[in-house]
Amino acid sequence: MDKEEKKFSSAEPISMSDSDLNFAKEIGKVAGTDLNSCLTCMSCSGGCPMYSYMDYGPHGIMRLAVLGLKKEALTSTTIWRCAGCHACAAVCPMAINIAGVMDYLREECLKGKYPIGDKPIFEFHRAFLLSVRFHGRSSKVELMGLHKLFTIGSGPKAWMQDAFLGVKMILMRKLHLLPSRLMSSGISQVRKIVVGEWRDR
Ligand code: SF4
Ligand code: SF4
Repeated sequence: MDKEEKKFSSAEPISMSDSDLNFAKEIGKVAGTDLNSCLTCMSCSGGCPMYSYMDYGPHGIMRLAVLGLKKEALTSTTIWRCAGCHACAAVCPMAINIAGVMDYLREECLKGKYPIGDKPIFEFHRAFLLSVRFHGRSSKVELMGLHKLFTIGSGPKAWMQDAFLGVKMILMRKLHLLPSRLMSSGISQVRKIVVGEWRDR
């Protein structure tokens, strides 16, 4: 069995009974793109650097959206593991704004209080935004500390896996211990941008 077959071999059949056929249209309106033009050619997944870590991959998310399978799309790991690099959009023959779709789906996941497909990655986003709210920009050491704090329940192995690397980088002076801050007027402008559900989950 090759890697691709293995990836989908244990998948449960998906019921179409809760299908919402307006879903693709709703996404398209906000992301400014037409999901119904997707050809399922898989060029996006073929060029995606995160594809092997995702459950559906970008082409799969497009298909779920077109079929109105909202819950499956919003609870997938794909939307959280997407790095927003736009490599998929660069190769899409239909010029679909796939990274914009992923942004929209992450927002919808949080608004609808759906289970989060990859909690540690969500916690990384949360730690980043909190650090940006404090200083107007992110502080790497603070980001690491906040992420460790937010994922404290993830078990000692997962929690410690990169802790030594962090200490090594501090000792090698690759990380600044004290955060640099924007001027206060800049911080308040950034705070107006960084709002939303991120703090509440
Ligand atoms: S590359 Fe574009 S058309 Fe092809 S599957 Fe991906 S989103 Fe659909
Ligand atoms: S934007 Fe997301 S889905 Fe598209 S190629 Fe990059 S990681 Fe993959």
